[in-house]
Amino acid sequence: FLQLPAPVTVLLRRLNESGFSAYVVGGCVRDSMLGLEPHDWDICTSALPEQMQEVFHDLHTVETGLKHGTLTVVVDHVPYEVTTYRIDGDYTDHRHPDSVHFVDNLTEDLARRDFTVNAMAWNPETGLADPFDGQTDLAAGLIRCVGEAEKRFDEDALRILRALRFASVYDFAIEPSTSAALRKMAPDLSRVAGERIREELLKLLCGKAAGRILREYPEVLAEIIPEIRPMIGYDQQNHHHSYDLWEHTVRGVEGVPPDPVLRLTMLLHDTGKPAARTTDEKGEGHYFGHPKISEQIARKAADTLRLDNAFRDRLCNLVLHHDIPLRTQSGEINTDRSFLLRRLNKFGEEDLRAIFLIHCSDRTATGYTTREREDLRLKERMAALDALLAEQPCFTLKDLAVNGRDLLAAGLKGKAVGEALQTLLEAVMDGKVSNKKEKLLNYLNQI
Ligand code: ATP
Ligand code: MG
Repeated sequence: FLQLPAPVTVLLRRLNESGFSAYVVGGCVRDSMLGLEPHDWDICTSALPEQMQEVFHDLHTVETGLKHGTLTVVVDHVPYEVTTYRIDGDYTDHRHPDSVHFVDNLTEDLARRDFTVNAMAWNPETGLADPFDGQTDLAAGLIRCVGEAEKRFDEDALRILRALRFASVYDFAIEPSTSAALRKMAPDLSRVAGERIREELLKLLCGKAAGRILREYPEVLAEIIPEIRPMIGYDQQNHHHSYDLWEHTVRGVEGVPPDPVLRLTMLLHDTGKPAARTTDEKGEGHYFGHPKISEQIARKAADTLRLDNAFRDRLCNLVLHHDIPLRTQSGEINTDRSFLLRRLNKFGEEDLRAIFLIHCSDRTATGYTTREREDLRLKERMAALDALLAEQPCFTLKDLAVNGRDLLAAGLKGKAVGEALQTLLEAVMDGKVSNKKEKLLNYLNQI
């Protein structure tokens, strides 16, 4: 009942014809049974690494993890991981098995896997192999450890976060003993390598039940990003916010599209508030300058998660500017041309659109406005931006109809050149002069 891609059938058959058993396993079985398109197909087999190399000698293979039993076979430019049945040795550091042992038995291989829904295998001849009844858990929407939960989380603490990730992505519940064990073992997460955490955390944040998981397990998240801890149950005592800081944060996360940068920005956007707090004589809390502190926290989180530079820079920039004013003095939506051009100049199109989305979610999350109202405002802002960009307006020095050489030719020298270009760009964005070479040079002579 699984629809295998043609190359997968070929790989399975080849292994079988050479006398080995072989199955598709893990995520692809789970996703197929959920009616979803698997994003990759993993195969497990009784063949040892050198035997797999022999079976696939005429195909393009990559020795990705041969020591751990994995050979990547590339067919039509698509990589398939083929792995020898194995069990993991002892985990003395809570994250890497000290050794792996190859076994000739599928059930033992399935037993080392993290959750019952991930511990199913299938092949066209023998059908489903499901010794831990993952099928029942899948139908019930349950994440349950294979074996004793506490021991499994103790072996590899990343599984704690993986449990939350799968629960978030599929909107599944976590079986009670698995849930109790993961809460208990959560402090071990601090020992897991940042790059492993990153993948799971970003998938968790982009999952359809991210909000519910963040509400149910804030302490687990706080083991990864400790600055979350003060936000849990934090009363902002400010009349602009009807929710505590963690609930506000969770609503913020839920309210932006499932994009890693946007979701992580919302998770971190108010982390600086507890440290920035001042209280006025009426007892009202104020948080002046908190985005700067939030940005520092975002930078630290980016290091912890080993985010690449581009991701880190966008994240920090969006956290720092998440609450820049987007309205006119009288409180109207500001769709003024020069306002938008100056924002485009500062942020670029992608980040400005991101700021609009963040703004919409942040405001909705306060509880003092409705999603419908904020969505309308968002639509209006995006439409104004679309209309403006359709004109291909000038908002960077590159777009300006004069360059440094033109100004040198016009007699300017040294620092004055750069300053004049900046002045001209601002004048163009403000509509004081049109972006034509002669007009610009004339304008320079007038001021
Ligand atoms: P995705 O759809 O995100 O790829 P996946 O289930 O395929 O999900 P992978 O991280 O690709 O997840 O892992 C493949 C399989 O390997 C899992 O289905 C699971 O059986 C097993 N696995 C992965 N990580 C662990 C782990 N930390 N502990 C135990 N088993 C694991
Ligand atoms: Mg996978």
